Amino acid sequence: MDGVTRPSPAGEAPLIEVENPATRRVIATVADAGPADVDDAVRSARKALGTWAATPVVDRVAVLRRAAKLLEDRREEIAQVVTAELGAPIRIARSVHAQLPIIVTATTADLLASYDFEQRIGHSLIVHQPVGVVAAITPWNFPLHQVTSKVVPALAAGATVVLKPSELAPLSALMLAAILTDAGLPEGVLNVVTGGPVTGRALVDHDDVDLVSFTGSVGVGRAVAAAASRTVKRVTLELGGKSASLVLPDADISTAVKVSVANAFFNSGQACNAWTRLLVPADRLEHVNDLAQAAAEKHTVGDPTDDKTRMGPVISDQQRERVRAFIRAGLGDGARLLAGGETSPDGCGDGYFVRPTIFTDVDPASTLAQDEIFGPVLSVIGYRDEAEAVEIANGTRYGLGGSVWSGDTDHAVRVARRIRTGQVDVNGGAFNPAAPFGGFKHSGYGRELGVHGMAEYLEPQSLQLPADAGRD
Ligand code: NAD
Repeated sequence: MDGVTRPSPAGEAPLIEVENPATRRVIATVADAGPADVDDAVRSARKALGTWAATPVVDRVAVLRRAAKLLEDRREEIAQVVTAELGAPIRIARSVHAQLPIIVTATTADLLASYDFEQRIGHSLIVHQPVGVVAAITPWNFPLHQVTSKVVPALAAGATVVLKPSELAPLSALMLAAILTDAGLPEGVLNVVTGGPVTGRALVDHDDVDLVSFTGSVGVGRAVAAAASRTVKRVTLELGGKSASLVLPDADISTAVKVSVANAFFNSGQACNAWTRLLVPADRLEHVNDLAQAAAEKHTVGDPTDDKTRMGPVISDQQRERVRAFIRAGLGDGARLLAGGETSPDGCGDGYFVRPTIFTDVDPASTLAQDEIFGPVLSVIGYRDEAEAVEIANGTRYGLGGSVWSGDTDHAVRVARRIRTGQVDVNGGAFNPAAPFGGFKHSGYGRELGVHGMAEYLEPQSLQLPADAGRD
């Protein structure tokens, strides 16, 4: 903070050990910052706000463009760090975890360069002001992408930030802070405090934070929103999901199943928008089961530093236990196990590995089909007709992502419009880093990325002008 890295002021903060989930080796220690550290960081962000908010857009754009370039230059190093802290397969660490932050930073810089911060509405001038001091609290599953998706648009908007990355994977976030400093971000504009729930709570409770941007679980999101209400802070919540891949009868079933299985197991199933329910016509269920089983077998689990590995471990012992408990619940509820299961995969050593697991004949109302597991577990569900398929897709408390597959794209789009989630991929349409990302229902509120993401960090101010304003 204040442009320098330092231990907590009293030097008394307990340390958190950061573990490599593939090897269980401790790879770093970081401070578990307390309220005094958080207070220092917020003061630093407040002090820097006036100057940063007044910094010409062209200079803010230049900082972000330099940061995008430095992210690119250090891509391999970032990928290695994400592989170590998260257990992400190195191939995916390079192509996704280290790549998305480059794209998001560059896209945001372009957007900022042409952003319209002022408009006229009748005799009013509408000025979009930076929201102030932002607290950004992030999870571990995309440890750099989630951080970048908050920090970069907030900085673009002219806000200053106190970031608290996940205590389980804080290392790539610290690299981003160093990169932004190297890119010329003035001191105090971005401050990072490491730590866990105590650090997060201190930030949310702080009187001088204007907005909390939180990504994480529904339970913690609720607590954050409740705590933030005391000081009437603005809050955005990016929470969990239980998204469905809905395969219509006229779809290319083989492609739809293959892509859906890959999506469910991507990042060891630790993606908030993972398609964890595969909805297929009941009369095609056995064919789908065969296809899904064959697809699961292609997911080699193992050492994430090996180029051939498609799936690494889950993040922690606790997470592995949670996933195993869901697998047991599925078996108890009478779902049929098609692939994987509770036992550890062979030859993976001591890490927190889980076998890619598929259940079929899953009751849409069961725990397996209703709760977010956050591990590599896919539920295959048969439906009778389109109306029932849509009802099942919408039949959870979540509303984050999903997909629709049909031989007729217009038909798929019509069905996608009926899905109550923040984003729906149609026939394999790719992720768009400039399109708004966020949830309906218990998946949260507010949006990240692109123009919508930046608007979250701006406050519209209306200046009512006298009748003669603007005349020569
Ligand atoms: P989590 O809710 O346990 O923790 C998220 C962050 O909040 C961490 O930094 C944690 O230290 C902090 N925290 C914990 N308790 C806090 C408190 N009381 N006050 C303030 N901060 C607190 O989530 P997690 O286990 O890190 O991540 C997994 C969850 O994140 C899943 O539910 C997943 O769906 C969700 N997620 C959502 C999105 C999205 O964009 N919608 C993206 C990724 C992950």
